[in-house]
Amino acid sequence: MELILTAKIKLLPNEEQKKQLIDTIKAIKLALNYTSKIAYYNNLVSSFNKLQKLVYNDLRKQFSLKSQMACNVCSVVASTYKSMKSNQENTLAIYKKSKFQYSYNRDYSFTKDGLVSIGTLNKRIKLAFITKGQEQYFDGSWNFGTATLIYKKGKFYLHIACKKEIEVNNNITNVIGIDLGMRFLATAIDSKSNHLFIRGNQVKQIRSKYIKLRKSLQAQGTKSAKRKLKTLSGRENRFMTNVNHCVSKALLNFAGENSLVVLEDLTNINLYASVQNKYRYLRMSWAFSQLKFFIEYKASMKNIKVITVDPKYTSQACPKCGFTHKNNRNYQTHTFTCCKCKYTSNDDRIGAINIRQKGIKYHNGITA
Ligand SMILES: [Zn+2]
Repeated sequence: MELILTAKIKLLPNEEQKKQLIDTIKAIKLALNYTSKIAYYNNLVSSFNKLQKLVYNDLRKQFSLKSQMACNVCSVVASTYKSMKSNQENTLAIYKKSKFQYSYNRDYSFTKDGLVSIGTLNKRIKLAFITKGQEQYFDGSWNFGTATLIYKKGKFYLHIACKKEIEVNNNITNVIGIDLGMRFLATAIDSKSNHLFIRGNQVKQIRSKYIKLRKSLQAQGTKSAKRKLKTLSGRENRFMTNVNHCVSKALLNFAGENSLVVLEDLTNINLYASVQNKYRYLRMSWAFSQLKFFIEYKASMKNIKVITVDPKYTSQACPKCGFTHKNNRNYQTHTFTCCKCKYTSNDDRIGAINIRQKGIKYHNGITA
């Protein structure tokens, strides 16, 4: 079975490279909208070959696109109109953002010295990048697919589709769904409806103490305050690392051998329009990535399989009848009451149940 996830790396361009990336993004956006108009006014062309004949030379000359980029623009626009036609829409497609699919090896690649090489208007450029929290995708077991260049609030990211063939382990006797959060660091449920709740209060308190201390030291700004800050961050890191070791150990002991552990994939959480509070905290936190890494690492030594599923709606869907609505959940009382069938439970438990169910579907080859 093939697993496809998105690795999100942050690029670190120098000033000259920034300009090259921005110029490329702008040119592609203009080229897309130009091509879209030509396709629209030629009776909604949705064939790549026809569209390429119509615009290829213009894209090369007017927009200074390289041959590969020009073809890519044609292919994006052709597929947009193809899907519009199948939906019986006949409006002009407008591209508000640059949409360009970089193909691995052809348009981007990784160099031996740890840089990413990307095609721009003029030439290929080599950039430094950060993989924080995404290290698993660079362990050599994943195949890189198409990538998208994202420019957001002055920063550049590359979102890379990563694929891996995974073995279907038929010996799985227990499936565990794990919901990660703040009130409970983890809530887990297994195949026999056993629960494991790991309380987060104490950790939350200690972390907020660190945050307060850090803020006051930052405000002081003196040399001695800076020294203290460094010591403090070391101490906080060690504290959270210890917590993560304990939590991952407890979760895997709960799971036992020959089990399937299902976690939330929070890689794409930024793409969702509204981000729940708990994710707002988690996605910024290196501690969450570390916990996930510990779970995966320890599981690999215990014949426990770990998969991640899309967390969307896992806190809103009723596990009994499937009715999904945000009113099902009461954040104040931490209860979940289905508006349709009245099924009631603790809200953290619901997350774990839904994650578990998604994991079972995914594992059986049904897209969750
Ligand atoms: Zn229900």
